[in-house]
Order: sequence, then C-alpha cells, then structure tokens
Amino acid sequence: MEDAIIEAIRLAVTKIPDDVVKSLQKAYEKENSPTARFNLENILNAIEIGEKEQIPVCQDTGTVTFFVEAGVRSPYLGVIKELITSALEKATREIPLRPNTVDVLTNKNIGNFPIIHWELVGGDKIKIAVLPKGGGSENCSALAMLTPAEGFEGVKQFVIERVKECGGKPCPPIILGIGIGGSSDLALKLAKKALLRPIGKRHQDEKIARFEEELLEEINSLKIGPMGMGGKTTALDVKVEVAPRHPASFPVGIVFQCWAHRKAFLEINKDGEVRIWQ
Ligand code: SF4
Repeated sequence: MEDAIIEAIRLAVTKIPDDVVKSLQKAYEKENSPTARFNLENILNAIEIGEKEQIPVCQDTGTVTFFVEAGVRSPYLGVIKELITSALEKATREIPLRPNTVDVLTNKNIGNFPIIHWELVGGDKIKIAVLPKGGGSENCSALAMLTPAEGFEGVKQFVIERVKECGGKPCPPIILGIGIGGSSDLALKLAKKALLRPIGKRHQDEKIARFEEELLEEINSLKIGPMGMGGKTTALDVKVEVAPRHPASFPVGIVFQCWAHRKAFLEINKDGEVRIWQ
C-alpha cells in the first residue's frame, strides 16, 4: 500500500491529467498572440517531457495535499496516516520531489510534510486524492467574510479583484476553486477540494454551474493570459462548491491552482487491493 501511494504521488507530479492537457491544447489553438502561443507551447513541452522522462513537470513539486475519504469499516483506518507520511518521505527521495517544507520558527528544511484532509464515510474502502500544490499559486489563495447583502455579486467582485491583483504570479492559465458558505475554514477547504473536479465538468446545480461559467468568462476577459503576459486564456476553469452558512456570514474561499494542475487518485479495498487513476 505504501508503494501504491508513492506511485500515485509519482503519477501526479510527472503526468498532467488528460482533462488539463486537452484544455491547454484548446487554449493554444485559440490564441493568436505570438507571446501567448509561445508560453503555452513551452508549458505543453514541459508536460510532454515530464511524462516521457518520468520527471516532475515543474521544479516546485508543491505541498503534497491528500484528501482522504476513509471508510469506517476499512481494516487500514488505523495505519493510513503513517502510510501516507512514510510514502511521502520515500517519494521525496525516489522520484525525487523537492524537499518543500521548512520549520516555521527555525526555517530549517524538514523534507516534505503531508497536509491531510479527512472525511469519514460509510463502507470499507479508502479513497485518497493526491493534490500537489505549488507555492506560487497557493500564495494567491484568499478568504473574504462578506456580508450576506453582498451575496453572489460580492463573490464575483472579490474573485475578479483577486485575479487582477495576482496577475501572472500564480502561473496562469489557472484553475480556480471557490468555496462559498459554511465557515471560514470550510469555505477554503471546499475551494481546494473543488479543484479535484475534472476540467469542464460543471456543478450539478444549474445556478451554480451558470455562475462558474460567468466567472470564467469574466476572468478570461481580463486578458492576463498565459504566464501573465497577455492572451485570451487566463483561466482554464472555475469550480464552485457551496455549503449552508450562518445567517450573518457569507464566507468565500478562493484557491488558485496553476497550469501544473497535478492530481491523482487511489482506492484501497478491504483486501488491500489498490486501484490508481487520474
Ligand atoms: S505556481 Fe505552479 S507552475 Fe508555477 S512554479 Fe509553482 S508549481 Fe510551478
């Protein structure tokens, strides 16, 4: 199981998933600015080299984030945290990953520290989503505690202002995860988890799906473009997730993801059999 987690991390950092690649190729075909085409061509080349040579597609292999849906009847519930931690340690040496974690007080490098989000679910399977998150894009993530009167219009303003403010810093074309409602912490968690939804797949609620499309259109009308050097594609997609909120609060979390949208999934059944996919 530890080897399988290493393989899922390797897959995530060396192979950009097909939905992202197709979306980048579409963006390349749409662009007529030579600079935007040049940047997208370089991105697509880096992706091709990463997959062919089995090396990370970007030098920043990110903070490796795990979303674990743990079946309460899984016999591996008690060991999964240790397995993830040791797999990440080995992956750092073997793939290799950049040792990307420093102690907050001493600044001493401590290798790679896994960020794990847990959700207990029914059943006997454990599903893990691996989401390595680059520092450049993560630095643009933000939280706003809007008033309920500001509502969805306020969300739009907050998002557009933040995208403008960040410009080329998150290595566009970006994918934007947005969490609305819940509490401050839940809004950001929803925003990050939203990034796991495939590019182009809309929210099941029609109104939210429309809101995602409106935001995507407005962001792309900013013409920040690939790597912030101008062009038609600033964002490949926008994903919105919502949760019920307190009547006095309207939390909005935004999580930026760069073009290097790395993700992989694995599932462990009760017999220890593993399936890995992207
Ligand atoms: S933001 Fe993404 S593409 Fe840019 S350096 Fe960081 S990981 Fe790499």
